[in-house]
Parts: sequence; C-alpha cells; structure tokens
Amino acid sequence: MAAPAAADIGGARAGDDEVDVIILGAGPAGAAAAITLCRHTRLRVALVERRLFDPFRPGETVSPALFPLMEYLGIARAGFEERHLQSYAHAAAWGGDELVVRDFLFNGQGSGLHLDRLAFDSMLLEQAGQLGAQIVQPAELLGITGGARWAVALRQGERKRTLGAAYLIDCSGRSSVMVRQQQCPVLQTDRMVGVYAYYDAGQADAPERLQRTLVETTANGWFYLAPLPGGRTALAFMTDAETLRTLDLLDPDTWRRHALASTHIGALVRELGAPQAFRQYPVHSRVARLPANAAWTAAGDAAASFDPVSSLGIGHALSSGIHAARVAQAYVEQGGGLGEGYRQSLLAHFQSYATTRRALYANEQRWPGAGFWQRRLAQEGERAVA
Ligand SMILES: Cc1cc2nc3c(=O)[nH]c(=O)nc-3n(C[C@H](O)[C@H](O)[C@H](O)COP(=O)(O)OP(=O)(O)OC[C@H]3O[C@@H](n4cnc5c(N)ncnc54)[C@H](O)[C@@H]3O)c2cc1C
Repeated sequence: MAAPAAADIGGARAGDDEVDVIILGAGPAGAAAAITLCRHTRLRVALVERRLFDPFRPGETVSPALFPLMEYLGIARAGFEERHLQSYAHAAAWGGDELVVRDFLFNGQGSGLHLDRLAFDSMLLEQAGQLGAQIVQPAELLGITGGARWAVALRQGERKRTLGAAYLIDCSGRSSVMVRQQQCPVLQTDRMVGVYAYYDAGQADAPERLQRTLVETTANGWFYLAPLPGGRTALAFMTDAETLRTLDLLDPDTWRRHALASTHIGALVRELGAPQAFRQYPVHSRVARLPANAAWTAAGDAAASFDPVSSLGIGHALSSGIHAARVAQAYVEQGGGLGEGYRQSLLAHFQSYATTRRALYANEQRWPGAGFWQRRLAQEGERAVA
C-alpha cells in the first residue's frame, strides 16, 4: 500500500516522513541516541515508540555512575535527582544468612538512585523532543524493508504511515526487532525470569526509610527488594523459567508463601498487603554480534542485556545509546568507520560482565544440589541463537 502524504497524518508535518535516522524504541537507550544525535549533529531523527509508558516499567536502581552520562546528555544531576529516591546502599544475604551492607558512601561519588522509571523515561523522551527529534508515539510497527533507504511502516491509531531513513538504530529492548529481523547472531547464556510484585504507597515504609536494596538468595533463586519513589516498593524473585513453572510461582499466593519463608525478605513481606501489580519479565543475559558496517545497529537491551543483579542495564542503555548515535552519524556522513569498534566494545563489555557474574554466583555454595545454582555454576550452557 502506498504511504499517505505526510500532511495527512495527525500531528506530522510535510517532510517529516523522510529523516536521516530512525530509532526504534524510546526507552533510555533510544532517548539517549536521539538526544546525542540532536545535540551533536544536524541529522533529522525520528524516535518511534510502540507504547505509552506505564508506572510498572522495571529497572529502578542505578549507581552514581549514571550522573556523568546524564551530564553528557545535557541533564544536570541537580535538575532531575529530586524526582527520584536517593539510594544509599545495597544489603545482601548471598552465600550466607548474614546481611552484608555495601554503602555508596565509600565510593566517593555519592549515592545512587531508586528511579521512578515512568518519570525518568518520560523526562528523557521530552528532552529528545525539545531538541528536535520527531517523537512518534504510540505507533505500531507494521514492517521494515531495506533497499537504498529503510522504509518503516507504522500504524498510528487508524492511520498508516511510512517513515524513510538512511540509518536505523534498534533500541527496542529485549524484543530486539532489528536484531531478529536481520538474523544477527545472539549469544544467550541462560533462561532467567523475574516475577515482580509492586506495592502501593503506605505499605511497609521500612525499605523506603532505609533507602537501600535488599537481596536474599534461596535454594531456587534470589529475592530483590527496592524502595521506589512515592512510598512504593518493588519486590522481585529471580529464577529460571523452568523453576517458575515447577514451583507454580506465577500464582501470587504461592509466590508470597515462598517470600515469607525467606529470612530477611520474609520479615518485610509480612508488613506488605496485596500487591498493586504482579508482572513477569525475562531477565536472561545475552549479547548480539552486531554488524561491523551496516546501515543499522542496536543499543541498550536490544544489543546486550544483563542479569538485574548487576544493576548495569540503565547505565549500559545510556552509554550504548550515545555510542550508537556516533556510529550512525559516521555511517550517514562518511559511509561508516565506527561500527567495528562499537561492536567489539560491546562484546568485550559482555565478556567481562559474564566473568564477574559467574564469580558472584559461585559465592553461593549452600545449595549444591539445587538446579538453579547448578545451572549458574555450569557455565550456564552458553549457546548461540539466531
Ligand atoms: C526485572 C528487571 C529488573 C531490572 N533492574 C534493573 C536495575 O535495578 N538497574 C538497572 O540499571 N537496570 C535494571 N534492569 C534493566 C533495565 O530495565 C534495562 O536494561 C533498560 O530499561 C534498557 O533500556 P532500553 O532502552 O534498552 O530498553 P527498554 O527500557 O526495554 O525500552 C525499549 C522500548 O522499546 C519499545 N519497543 C519495543 N518494541 C518496539 C517496536 N516494535 N516498535 C517501537 N517501540 C518498541 C518498548 O515499548 C520500550 O519502551 C532491570 C530489568 C528487568 C527486566
């Protein structure tokens, strides 16, 4: 079907359908790529997002390493941190019953943050729009075709539209639309999933007062509790997809009984009522072997995703979004030059992450017969998937 004229599309101006770079996905990676392109180049950018953001976007704890990245994006620490909750420490019972507290105080960079992801992602998106990126949200992706230029077919409400661009950046998170469409090789190390319960304001104010994350291992995985701004709390259990099914942990009552049985988390869960929402997310680790010099690349979770125990995801999304924007600029303006370096740095980063992660899981030796821990210690059956 022929694309309708740009002027026919609600909100779009004539000429908006032809840009230099289309970014698919407006999470932290997509917004960082758009902001970088708008701040540092003259390229025309469209940022396409399929959904309106909701308050249950997972990924909330960030270290102070986030602040220099935000500054690079033109967002000063003082300008945004008051909307979020200061994060002073991580407490973990990992490898033993005792809770070990690691305080941000001693790292010299100040505290981290427990993000309100709805506010954080919306702020980045707004910044991209203010700098001149065309925000296309919500928009359903109908198809992507390549040729001399990319053609991205979208539906916005009742209307269809086709955006054209010289370059595409896949920032679609774990759905990794382009990585899949281009059959880019992916190394996936495991099949971990996280089941999250979100608790409303007014319930169990203890974690909020302490303003720290709490991690506790069990025979079948590990619990993670984080305070969120506004008095909310996120409590997650990370395990394998198989274990989730075998133990029926998608049933909220079974899940709660499991939480109550753990020592430190159990004491806090007793104070919490029924969760406001109960969600399941994939949290496996994977990295894409991106092309060295093509008219597309990927950033954020679409390029590499990490176990939440690392708290690497949001920082990686911002830094890889910034790098991918530079790769795109070099391709559009000079025909390439930065793709190979970017691809190598992603693979090296993932390799070093995988080594650290293995060492961390090896520190838990209390359940040598449990499948979850055996799989973590057995190199996790690394395999390439298309
Ligand atoms: C349970 C869990 C806990 C986590 N905890 C932490 C943590 O404590 N700290 C941390 O730093 N990280 C954490 N992470 C990781 C962090 O959330 C992600 O790494 C980060 O959000 C990645 O950003 P992104 O922009 O790459 O992807 P996303 O934030 O996933 O954004 C991708 C966007 O693309 C959109 N999209 C998808 N498909 C399409 C399409 N076809 N067309 C248009 N748009 C599309 C999506 O709607 C979404 O808005 C956690 C993740 C999970 C799942």
